[in-house]
Amino acid sequence: MVTLNKVLIVDDSKLIHQMYRLVLMKYKNCALVDAMNGLEALDILSRENGFDLILLDINMPVMNGVQLMEKLKKDNLYRHIPIVVISTEGKEEDTIRAMKLGAWGYIVKPFKSEALYDLVEKVIAKKPAGLAWATAARA
Ligand SMILES: [Mg+2]
Repeated sequence: MVTLNKVLIVDDSKLIHQMYRLVLMKYKNCALVDAMNGLEALDILSRENGFDLILLDINMPVMNGVQLMEKLKKDNLYRHIPIVVISTEGKEEDTIRAMKLGAWGYIVKPFKSEALYDLVEKVIAKKPAGLAWATAARA
């Protein structure tokens, strides 16, 4: 198991936040910070540091996941933080856009908690990112 100290969860669904909390419980003492949209995430990132991972929803009000990634990619402070995109079935163009913007992996809703856990392990272990292995993580 890799070491995970602090994760930023960006999703407009409280249910999804709860599901991530259950999966990430395996990482003892990992701090989980919740943001409900991209703008909230930017605000948190400007005030706190030390994030090892961002779990990012695409479809959100105010600022969506692609818009947030466009901002993070341009910023030297944030560009190194691994991002796992959580996309929705039937929205493949969003997933492709996110991978082109530098997402380290993606998973499609609905997914099994084990699939998310496996993907997080691969991303944090810095295995080669790319569609081939990310697709294998689909539930
Ligand atoms: Mg959403």
